[in-house]
Order: sequence, then structure tokens, then C-alpha cells
Amino acid sequence: MIELTDVTKVYPGGVNALAGVSLRIEAGELVAIVGPSGSGKSTMLNVLGTLDRPTSGRVRIDQYDVARLSDSGLSALRAGRIGFVFQQFHLASGVRAVDNVADGLLYSGLRRAERRRRAEAALERVGLGHRLHHEPHELSGGERQRVAVARAVAGDPAVLLADEPTGALDSVSGAGVMQLLRDLNAAGTTVVIITHDRDIAASLPRQLPMRDGRLLPEASR
Ligand code: ADP
Ligand code: MG
Repeated sequence: MIELTDVTKVYPGGVNALAGVSLRIEAGELVAIVGPSGSGKSTMLNVLGTLDRPTSGRVRIDQYDVARLSDSGLSALRAGRIGFVFQQFHLASGVRAVDNVADGLLYSGLRRAERRRRAEAALERVGLGHRLHHEPHELSGGERQRVAVARAVAGDPAVLLADEPTGALDSVSGAGVMQLLRDLNAAGTTVVIITHDRDIAASLPRQLPMRDGRLLPEASR
């Protein structure tokens, strides 16, 4: 599903955020990328999600070689195959939950009524069928993150990438969001969760520890 070969990312100013990373993630996996702040996790997510191109090395997502795709080709790959969840939810304020989710399908080519139907179904799936018309400020943090997860999965992506998805939540809401991500994985979505929380990482079947832009050897269990 995802294959990185000798990937580096050097930011302007010379920061070596990824210093030669190779990994394979198979379809159906549930993986944690874990490491301290500044170890390159978000950079890794951006590269895995084709939000950013590597400085060198090869990135293959779903059989596509990212270097061979144009920017519009990458956008199409992202829109069709990859869902994103971020620590700070990134919902549009003043916009009802159902529209926040439906707007994530704007570039899907689906008609408005179908976008709305899928948005409602996705919100049902995350347990928010009773909050369709609430705006973000009328929802708890945990509910907001559920809306964000609904938006990420409304297009039925093959891969869900989550960057510190519980980082802004209390422990109970965080546990609920983690269970939701596990459920989505059990239903077939490949899920990659980035976290600095060792307990969260330890609760997942595979952990990729990161330090200083590199992957450390995987702990087997
Ligand atoms: P993490 O998510 O693990 O905290 P990041 O991937 O955000 O780590 O950052 C890795 C390193 O790259 C850090 O040293 C950070 O300061 C640097 N960095 C991140 N984004 C940029 C950027 N846009 N420009 C320059 N340096 C950056
Ligand atoms: Mg980060």
C-alpha cells in the first residue's frame, strides 16, 4: 500500500527532517509512527500523504510512484485514496457537521445530494448521527474529532493518516477516537497513526519508532 525507499526531506535552511527512511506498509495494517517532538513524524505524514514531495528517494502509494505524478495527479490520488485527521481537527467554523463532512467530497465528482447522503452515513458511522446540524463550537473536542474522522472516511479512502489525533483531547475522548480508528481498520482501511504517546503506540499492532529523521529498528511483539 505504501512504500518509501531511502526518502530524505531537507527543509530550506538545511533541516534534515527525514534522513533516509525506508518502509513498507501493507494494505489492512494498523501502524503507529512514534517519536519525540521534532523527530520528523509530521514530515513523514506529509510525505506519506503526498502533501509534500521528498527531497530524494522514492515514494509509492497504492502502486503510484509519486515522482511520476503531476500536482493535479497527486491531488486526485489524495482525494480518492487518502484521508487525513489532524490534532486540531481543522473543521470549518460556523459550518454544520454534515456540511463539514460533505465539503470534503467537493472534488469527488459526486453530485450534491450524494455528497450529503455520504456525509450523513459517515457521521452515523462515527456515532454522530444525532449531531448532523451542530456547528463545531456546539460540539465537544471528542465530537469534533469524530466529525474530522467522518470527513476523512466519507470518500472511503484506502488509507487513513492521523497526526496526533488524540493530542488535543482528554483521555476518555482520546480513547474513544482510538477505538473508532481501530474499528475503521477492522473494517478494512489501512490506518497510520502518528503519536508521541508511547502508551497509544504500544496499544497498536505495529510500531515504527522515529528519532532524528530516521526509523529505529522495529520492536517485534
Ligand atoms: P514532529 O512532527 O516529530 O514533531 P516535524 O516533522 O514537525 O517533527 O519536524 C521535524 C524537524 O523539521 C524539526 O526540527 C522541525 O523544526 C523541522 N521542520 C518542520 N517543518 C519545517 C519547515 N516547514 N521548515 C523548516 N523546518 C521544518
Ligand atoms: Mg508533529
